[in-house]
Amino acid sequence: MSRSARGTPFSPLARLRGWDLWTTPRAMLAFVLTVDAVMFLVSFCLVINAKADGSDLARLLVLLALWVVFEETSNRIAQMRVRLANYGHVDMTSVWTFAAALVLPPALTVFLCAVVLGYAWLRHERRSGMRAYRQVFGAAVVVASCLAARLVLNLVTAGAGSSGPPYRAVLGVAVAMLVYAAVNFFVLFVAIYLAVRPVKLTELLENRQDVTLEFATLCLGGLTALALADQPLLAVLVMPPLFVLQRSVLTKQLEIAATTDAKTGLLNAATWQSMAQHELARAHREHEAAALLIIDMDNFKLVNDTYGHIAGDVVLRAVADCLVRELRQYDAIGRFGGEEFVAMLAGVDELTAVGISERVREQIQSLEVSTPIDGQPAVIALSASIGISCFPEHGGELEDLLHAADSALYAAKRAGRNRVVVSPL
Ligand code: GH3
Ligand code: MG
Ligand code: MG
Repeated sequence: MSRSARGTPFSPLARLRGWDLWTTPRAMLAFVLTVDAVMFLVSFCLVINAKADGSDLARLLVLLALWVVFEETSNRIAQMRVRLANYGHVDMTSVWTFAAALVLPPALTVFLCAVVLGYAWLRHERRSGMRAYRQVFGAAVVVASCLAARLVLNLVTAGAGSSGPPYRAVLGVAVAMLVYAAVNFFVLFVAIYLAVRPVKLTELLENRQDVTLEFATLCLGGLTALALADQPLLAVLVMPPLFVLQRSVLTKQLEIAATTDAKTGLLNAATWQSMAQHELARAHREHEAAALLIIDMDNFKLVNDTYGHIAGDVVLRAVADCLVRELRQYDAIGRFGGEEFVAMLAGVDELTAVGISERVREQIQSLEVSTPIDGQPAVIALSASIGISCFPEHGGELEDLLHAADSALYAAKRAGRNRVVVSPL
């Protein structure tokens, strides 16, 4: 039985209409399609004018063979990584695409990019819901990065020949690596900027793990290229570090999945409790103050009932982002459950805690989360109540503080919501 018989759209046209490509901002769509078209044309011209000798083909075959062995032996880890990532993740394909950019003629690089990225989409990304057009754009960006990297490599090593000073080759690879990363980053930055402007550069670089992984894969790609240029069989030595890298990234992803709340990105309840205990023990030891905040959204059931659960989830994410913005980097912020958040503020006394909470409350109230209602964007009215307890005034154990802050929150709700209340002594 076809899925359409059970009421799910099945026809290719219906699926095409469902793509979020059509609802993306026009400027971004125009940019994405332009990049795709330009890179397609450039690739086409390169392929029909392709010139390659036997050693180029041999290098291509070695690269493809290493790639196949790596894909087949680390497939399970790669699939787990895709499943764990709740946003687009950095894969390890740059090892092959960057190495190709450095040692293969551009036409063969384009071919390798198409094979490697096409396979990555079919095998991993498609299952995680990644649309083909996004992978096409991603591939166009990778091809642009490869061609730019090759161009600067040629410029840096021009005239040096194989007998030139070795530092020219190393410098060439290093500069090519920077250009590869810069082109990749810049094109993606423009696309994101056109979709959700304004966007801060620092926000895009926030995920340090992704940046480090991209850098590590480029280093391995550079080493692979140097081996391929000189002693192709030596390129096999890149495989063990590649496996270890893939495993270590999975371990990190598992750690993040086990400690954070997937919906908001904040600490989950168990991890928050353990961090808050830790913070409290430190406050005990160092005779410092600490404040505990429970932040509960007002009438959140109404938000869900009026705008739907998905809009409710968007609100939760926006409130979580607001807490991260308003509190300090080292404050433990968690999602305790449903629409309830908790924060442990180290070294903060009662007066300061009230000031911070008032600011947080005002910021939540001024959040502008909009959702379409009858085709028109509607801003969801939001407010939160906050209960505060302080160490050492309200107790020395986390349970005492939670109990006191919860009672204060209850008082805030009874007093009419959208307010901050400190637990009485
Ligand atoms: P009050 O001002 O007294 O806190 O009222 P309230 O409606 O916020 O509180 P209540 O406890 O009655 O309802 C909480 C609502 O939060 C009910 C539930 O549907 C919603 N909720 C809990 N978890 C989630 C979630 O993950 N996503 C969404 N969208 N809603 C959630
Ligand atoms: Mg509530
Ligand atoms: Mg609640």
